[in-house]
Amino acid sequence: MKQMHGIAASPGIAIGTVFLYQDDTPQVPQYSLAEEAVEEEIRRLQDAVQRAEADIRQIQQENNSRLEKDEQAILDAHLMMLQDPTLFESVHRKLQEDLLNVEWVVHQTVKELMEKLMASGDPYLKERTTDLRDVSKRVLSHLLAHTRVGLESLQEEIILVTHDLMPSDAVTMEKSKVMAIAMDAGGKTSHTAILARSFEIPAVLGLGTVTRMLSGGEVLIVDGNHGVVILDPDDQTLSEYRTMQDEWHEHENQLMRLKNLPAETSDGKLIYLNGNIEVPEEVVSIHSHGADGIGLYRSEFLFLGTHSLPDENEQYGAYRRVLESMQGRPVTIRTLDVGGDKLSTHIDHRDEKNPILGWRAIRMCLSEVDLFKTQLRALLRSSVHGRLQIMFPMISGIPELSRALDLLEEARQELRDREVPFARDIPVGIMIEVPSAALTADALARKVDFFSIGTNDLIQYTLAVDRGNERVAYLYEPFHPGLLKLIRMIIESGHREGIPVAMCGEMAGDPLATVVLLGLGLDQFSMGAVGIPEVKRIIRSASMAEAEELVGSIMEMRTAAEINTAVQGYMKKRFGLDA
Ligand code: PEP
Ligand code: MG
Repeated sequence: MKQMHGIAASPGIAIGTVFLYQDDTPQVPQYSLAEEAVEEEIRRLQDAVQRAEADIRQIQQENNSRLEKDEQAILDAHLMMLQDPTLFESVHRKLQEDLLNVEWVVHQTVKELMEKLMASGDPYLKERTTDLRDVSKRVLSHLLAHTRVGLESLQEEIILVTHDLMPSDAVTMEKSKVMAIAMDAGGKTSHTAILARSFEIPAVLGLGTVTRMLSGGEVLIVDGNHGVVILDPDDQTLSEYRTMQDEWHEHENQLMRLKNLPAETSDGKLIYLNGNIEVPEEVVSIHSHGADGIGLYRSEFLFLGTHSLPDENEQYGAYRRVLESMQGRPVTIRTLDVGGDKLSTHIDHRDEKNPILGWRAIRMCLSEVDLFKTQLRALLRSSVHGRLQIMFPMISGIPELSRALDLLEEARQELRDREVPFARDIPVGIMIEVPSAALTADALARKVDFFSIGTNDLIQYTLAVDRGNERVAYLYEPFHPGLLKLIRMIIESGHREGIPVAMCGEMAGDPLATVVLLGLGLDQFSMGAVGIPEVKRIIRSASMAEAEELVGSIMEMRTAAEINTAVQGYMKKRFGLDA
């Protein structure tokens, strides 16, 4: 048994079997087949063998004059192995007996054969194992490419262990089969963490070397509440964690009873509690957790992990679906925020030295005008199906905002020319997530209908700490006095101009920060839907008077550590919150 500590990135506890995912060397998956699927597997095998033969012939042709005699002999031997009926027959027989997928059967048959050859003691036969491994790798690479083995085709429930996970992989993976995620890399506000929370998958990230400790198939406990993973747990630990799992579910069920009650402080301030979503399917969870609306729909996920760029109609369909299913509650859709760590295969993201500071979000949209206007038209068209709000990401100052608003006006005009209807008064807001925007919030507030503070990036850019880098995660401090001052400045600027100020970064969903944010005057909180009930519980038992007093005292402090200690002590004593 071995315990490792990482970052508690998504709550919940899972106990299951490890699936080690390394996208450069794809693991051979194992899954069961129906009897009638065997014929198709045999056909796939024949196809893969033919392709492997064609590869070898091509190497021989292209390198005819350069190949040494020995090398020619090896390739000839490989061709003979591929044509050897014995191997093929034993795979065939196993397929029928075991009813497992062909790549797994090939992998196992070759492994057994290699063990026999090694055990024979005959030096000639032992040497053949290298050839056998090469040949089987070639066949497997064709089989795996064929099935695009990846996380989208998981068949059994597993615990996903990986070095890092691209947001596009996370969004396309077969989520119902992923019980938990354990990762070497990643921070609490990395997009993998955000997606894990959205999909309600417990996750521990930033484990450093977990992939090196495992090879797949082991039992693993992932405790996303405390940021712990336990490898090969003993019976007593397993039973303790099963009890903790039950208690956690009970706690969640209790909170769900608040679902239909308003998030109102004891002295009568009504707060809007909204949900963040990445894909339209999450609307179900938004409803089940009692959100007042959607405060952030990260529309870029429509552009990630897809076969082609979604056109105006496809986008319109997705936005319409979300708006309709929210039945008149507000839905804030953020325009495309790709770049940085969210790369779309359909957009030319050149190799950038500093992608987080590079060509992303609104910057990209303002240079790819057609792409941007297509999205704006789709958004405008969808506005007749619900209460849409449009939000621009990564605005750094007035010129960017003015240009984005001009393009929105052009999109409106294009629809008028096409005689396509759209709502008249769609609120337009911006994310405040770049320090220069926070510092000029007063001027920006005069041009928009609302602000939403994106603390994930605002912390990253204010404290100069990569939000996805576990090595500097200790510097990523939401309670840094500098950050709290910026948040206060943004809220005050918004209020002076009479616009509401929301927050949709992860800080809004951290129960430890709830009373502080209330005291700073935040109007709306938006978070992954699972976080809503706990934040609501705190808001309902807090008063604005105490929140303002708490803020008054912590704003005098000089370090994040001091503020953390004070807030943790307060939240534990007053709301029974465990840090
Ligand atoms: C943020 O930066 O806080 C935010 C909500 O946007 P994202 O996490 O998608 O960058
Ligand atoms: Mg952001």
